[in-house]
Amino acid sequence: MIEVAGKKIEAVVFDFDGTLYENGFFFKFIFLVYNILHFKIFFSHRKIINDLRGNDFGTPENYSRRVFGEMAAKTGKSLESIQNWYYKIFKRTFCVILKKYCRPRKNFNDLCIYLKKNQIRTAIFSDYGFIGSRLEALEIELDCFDLLVSGETEGVLKPSSRPLLKIAKHFGIEPERMLVIGDRADTDGIAAANAGMNYYIIRKRSAGGNIVSWNRLLKILMNDKTDKETA
Ligand SMILES: [Mg+2]
Repeated sequence: MIEVAGKKIEAVVFDFDGTLYENGFFFKFIFLVYNILHFKIFFSHRKIINDLRGNDFGTPENYSRRVFGEMAAKTGKSLESIQNWYYKIFKRTFCVILKKYCRPRKNFNDLCIYLKKNQIRTAIFSDYGFIGSRLEALEIELDCFDLLVSGETEGVLKPSSRPLLKIAKHFGIEPERMLVIGDRADTDGIAAANAGMNYYIIRKRSAGGNIVSWNRLLKILMNDKTDKETA
């Protein structure tokens, strides 16, 4: 157990993209460059995913049927070519970019070791699947986490809180003793709040309340009272 802002925390759930690594303007630009040959499919995927946020499809099959079906209708491509793009091209490109251009947040490994030492259960909750491949590309050890959960395999995207509640149940930990760490208030923050969990949103600079820089978050989690730095 650790104490965070006066609350007892027994499990930490990390978002993936923008949380385990920084995905600023450069990352988004590179992502676009790598997808330029398939930009129509790429943009239809992004738009449809955003439009479907909050809808609960119940199963991964229902979810992918709806997403790929809408992408096929929007782009005029066959369902087969859309699935091929997602499971082969998109997935591979995503991992190549992570490996080539991204690094885990500073001292992430130390944080994992610290959480383990304090018997904190850890999970990832990410909208996208293939979390194991993405962790490998970022060179983050798989055993940093007790559980990997994706919106895709749950059949619902953030800000649904259903997967977070499932993680809490799996760990046997009350939601108020869970802490969610993400980079988007409108998805990670709302999902956590609706689940009755504590959360922090990572930004370049701390801005009070739940908005903290990565450095500040490390200090809060690792109980370092030596520095009152808020940047
Ligand atoms: Mg994110």
